[in-house]
Amino acid sequence: MANQIKAVRGTRDLLPPDTETWNFIESTVRDVFRFYNFQEIRTPILEDLSLFQRSVGEETDIVSKEMFAWEDRARAQSEKGQWLALRPENTAGVVRAYIEHKMWERPGLQRFYYIGPQFRRERPQKGRYRQFYQIGAEVIGSSIAGSESPAVDAEILEMLAKLLDRLGIHGWKLKLNSVGCSEDRPIYLQALRDALKDVAPTMCIDCQRRAETNPLRVLDCKVPEDQPIIEKLPKLDDYLNESCRTHFAEVQKILNAVGVPYEIDNRLVRGLDYYTRTAFEFTHGALGAQNAILGGGRYDGLSESLGGPAAPGIGFAIGEDRLVMTLQESAGVKAQPADVYIAPLGAGMNVHAAKLARELRSHGVVVIAGDESFKLKKSLETASKLGVRFALILGENEVNSNQFALKNLNTGEQASVGKSEIPNIVKQTKSSS
Ligand code: AMP
Repeated sequence: MANQIKAVRGTRDLLPPDTETWNFIESTVRDVFRFYNFQEIRTPILEDLSLFQRSVGEETDIVSKEMFAWEDRARAQSEKGQWLALRPENTAGVVRAYIEHKMWERPGLQRFYYIGPQFRRERPQKGRYRQFYQIGAEVIGSSIAGSESPAVDAEILEMLAKLLDRLGIHGWKLKLNSVGCSEDRPIYLQALRDALKDVAPTMCIDCQRRAETNPLRVLDCKVPEDQPIIEKLPKLDDYLNESCRTHFAEVQKILNAVGVPYEIDNRLVRGLDYYTRTAFEFTHGALGAQNAILGGGRYDGLSESLGGPAAPGIGFAIGEDRLVMTLQESAGVKAQPADVYIAPLGAGMNVHAAKLARELRSHGVVVIAGDESFKLKKSLETASKLGVRFALILGENEVNSNQFALKNLNTGEQASVGKSEIPNIVKQTKSSS
């Protein structure tokens, strides 16, 4: 046998019945987001590499280590190839599209959501893949339209709480922080750099690197030996200026009013450079080490850094793979078997089976049509194995009389019924089962 070709490391096939859970999540997401007036946006998976360098940040792990990027073939010998990347996240693409299509000319705030694959060359483990799926939403617009308002942050968080509740995911935790803005953060970063100068060499190897490249990420370190050192570092919230402080207090005030529980985590910083002010994460205990279901925050300067107008915004990305895992740890979503298996008996009956299947389907019945070469016993066995609830026996006599033998495979009962009665019988047993 020839060598078998397998799915690429860190990627995986999503198979039925698991895809039922994915579909359940996606349809619930669409339903919930609609009530908050979010509309779907679809941007390309392939983008210019510089988009991520300028937004997510060159010094971040995502861009410096985890990107699938390559120089594309040049169109002419004299030209250089363009550097392309598979998107590692979707906010940058959405903001690029916002700018490219001058969406600030549209009235009010733009509320988008997306569902799609993202790519990061991370070390694969449970809950961490190289191709993974994110469900995200973004609110972008001019300040005049109110995009900076803390009410927008609170509404996004309330929407997420509603979504998780609607999905039946309980026991989540919302961790909230303010990471400051372009005015106060540089001052904090300098203080952090100064403090790290002496202690970084005694810290873990990752922190030694982060102290140089991205000191904010030191706060994220989980290595036990580093914790007492981190506790003594300057605190972000001591450096927030008055307007960031007021903004954050207002977000919390609204969350308290609408009853969304949260914890303040002063050490929460996110792995992407563009975040400003409100940053958040929802975690869930069922997930183990990779316990973040979703993360997000404000990105008030992102549009300008990508060549667009001032367009403050906020968004989040849910790890759909992890949402699926959380749901499967609890009740899970059951795949619905087909309603009717048609068993055509004898030569020439496939034609009649096809006609009958078409008619039943147009009445909302889920049908599997068997094959005329099957013996009745084999048809019934196949139908049972597939979990189908009814077998419909279709022979010459049935076609001529328009009366069909409908066998309930759960109870074993069989009755002769008219064609027009079948959809009702099937639906009645469905709602009572
Ligand atoms: P980020 O885009 O890094 O803010 O991540 C947002 C969410 O995406 C995380 O909370 C995870 O749930 C999910 N996520 C990030 N990276 C991965 C990955 N490699 N595999 C699976 N899920 C991921």
